[in-house]
Amino acid sequence: MCDFCIQHGQGKKWYLEAENYSQDLLSDVRRRDFIADFFSHREHLDGAARDLTRLSSAPRFVRRALSAARTRRMKKQHFGQVLPMEDVEQIFGFVNSVSRLPCICRETLLGREVGYCYGVSLGPGGQPFGDIFDGLDDSFFSGPDTSRLQEISKEEAIAAFAEHEKEGLCHTVWTFMTPFIGGVCNCDRSDCMAMKATVVHDVKVMFRAEYIAEVNRDLCTGCRSCMRLCQFGALAYSAADQKAVVDHTACYGCGICRSACPHDAMSLRPRAEVPVAASLW
Ligand code: SF4
Ligand code: SF4
Repeated sequence: MCDFCIQHGQGKKWYLEAENYSQDLLSDVRRRDFIADFFSHREHLDGAARDLTRLSSAPRFVRRALSAARTRRMKKQHFGQVLPMEDVEQIFGFVNSVSRLPCICRETLLGREVGYCYGVSLGPGGQPFGDIFDGLDDSFFSGPDTSRLQEISKEEAIAAFAEHEKEGLCHTVWTFMTPFIGGVCNCDRSDCMAMKATVVHDVKVMFRAEYIAEVNRDLCTGCRSCMRLCQFGALAYSAADQKAVVDHTACYGCGICRSACPHDAMSLRPRAEVPVAASLW
């Protein structure tokens, strides 16, 4: 299991143990300020994109030191983990409300509003996500535009995620001041800054999932449909065997490949059961 499961989940999946801390989510001003600041000042993403570009041309030892420092800081504030659809459904099962909002990564990188992100509220009184912004001082009023938050039912959210899965997007859960989860998103390596940082630039800001993919060789016909959707380059095709093959050292356990398989040949199993992947996060 990942660090967060040990530190915050008492050995279970940390993001499903939210009742441990939901009582003070909305009442903690520091967290509210962090969330409001995050959405108010999108220029921090421009800065992060520039930092990543600069980092890629830095000497190796500098890259290592800076990326480790960034990971340490992000783990305290805003860190993510890949998770499959069944865990997304579990999260939507216990949160109080779900609000769909434009992805700030896509707004920054593409200049377009795309509703791939979902804020979740765990407030004990059932307050919607938009209430996080209420009661903040005037400096925030020109910032987060809560009119762009669309409150939706849990059923609508699950249906939307099923559509995102068909688009090949990878589901992720995010902390806003760890370990408090505040959002569930749909990422890809081209437009999502966090996934790009982690997968392309090796600056880890999200964990792999607690799972890993495996192919049922009896069911696989070698059609290769799954390979098109994998964001992590974890699937190969064995010409000799005429089957898909999972590279367990590259698989993030998102489970998106399952939605592409017409023969139900792809499944997930716990990462801990696969020795070569058990300590890869
Ligand atoms: S092989 Fe692994 S990383 Fe690739 S889509 Fe399947 S579960 Fe995700
Ligand atoms: S989509 Fe399914 S049947 Fe086709 S190669 Fe992948 S695992 Fe095999």
